Amino acid sequence: MGVIDRDRLATAIQSELAIYRQRTPESGRLFGDARHLLGGVPMTWMNKWAGGHPLHFATAKGNRIVDVDGNEYIDFALGDTGAMAGHSPDATVRAIRQRIEGAGGITTMLPTDDAEWVAAELTRRFGLPLWSLSLTATDANRWALRIARLVTGRDKICAFSYCYHGAVDETLVRTGPNGTTIEREGNVGPAVPVAQTTRVAEFNDLESVERALAHGDVAVLIAEPALTNIGIVLPEPGFWESVRELCDKYGTLLLIDETHTISAGPGGCTRAWDLRPDIVVIGKSIGGGVPSGAYGLSEAVAARINEHPEADLIDVGGVGGTLAGNALSTSAMRATLSEVLTDFAFDHMIELATHFREGVEGVLRDTGIPWSIAQLGARAEYRFVDPPPRTGTESQLRTMTKSRSTCICSWRIVECS
Ligand code: PMP
Repeated sequence: MGVIDRDRLATAIQSELAIYRQRTPESGRLFGDARHLLGGVPMTWMNKWAGGHPLHFATAKGNRIVDVDGNEYIDFALGDTGAMAGHSPDATVRAIRQRIEGAGGITTMLPTDDAEWVAAELTRRFGLPLWSLSLTATDANRWALRIARLVTGRDKICAFSYCYHGAVDETLVRTGPNGTTIEREGNVGPAVPVAQTTRVAEFNDLESVERALAHGDVAVLIAEPALTNIGIVLPEPGFWESVRELCDKYGTLLLIDETHTISAGPGGCTRAWDLRPDIVVIGKSIGGGVPSGAYGLSEAVAARINEHPEADLIDVGGVGGTLAGNALSTSAMRATLSEVLTDFAFDHMIELATHFREGVEGVLRDTGIPWSIAQLGARAEYRFVDPPPRTGTESQLRTMTKSRSTCICSWRIVECS
């Protein structure tokens, strides 16, 4: 097996950076001239850019982005799945145009007839019968965690080490010494120490899940069915069946966050793997790029809410928001779910991703380099270790640490129009 020549790598990176600067002068200028944006960008994550300045884009359609210097790119990032349906899908654009220019009304704090259609479609896909809409997956998670604490009367949640569910305070956790819960590195201004809100477990480690739940104070286990935010970490056979049993044994609800893992199919891993959650959260892709999210509840959880007439669900009780469920987002969700992210589109996307994964596997086998590739339906990701990590903590240590100068390439396959 060959060893990577780090000096050669450093030279190659320098030459790539020089090419990038030379090809993107206008993006560089716009970034350099920004005086009133914190960090020079509209949202601080946009600074996480390998080339020194972010690309400023001019147009985006399907899987193509054209930057302000006229360079065209094939976009494999797709807004971190916010644009999993491709940029500006025709059906979504038509629907939001009709909402704005035809019907009229963007935010009224009143429902439109699109909302029940969206909820019924989410029920068809994920199985849960009752849905509420949000603008982001972060909010859907926050509100669902509150409902879980309300109905169980318990004050803690359980989350996997190095999970990511949006900017949800309780979930920015990792495993500390002796299985204790500690903050993820870099946590910005946490309201309370995370150990007060959260018990941590390791993905694929049933003993750690049982240890956490056995305290009897965990309202809900929140999880992605496969970790996708610390590289893709796939579940081992039988893991989810056992987690479901442990949740039942200890009276803990199971919240499955499908925001990224909807790549597994029209009903995400919930349907593909028969996960039987009590709560599902979904966001990002379902609005075709227009801010959208939702949480779904089982009949039993919804019935338990009714046992709490004191809970303020219709005003400032901590669940909901002024713009959630607005007419524009809801029309975008209806169009995207009915005409873009269809069952047929998933079949095609998954076929393409499988082709890609098999090709990469062949190259890895032939060259003998110790890398691996994971596929989650329409999404595939190779990483520079083999065998792949089993837990979030292991993934962080083995592949994400800066000292090893490694990174992960993620590919999401989208239908080209
Ligand atoms: N859940 C998961 C699994 C996510 O990956 C993300 C974002 N990457 C979120 C929730 C939060 O989404 P948003 O930032 O749109 O609120």
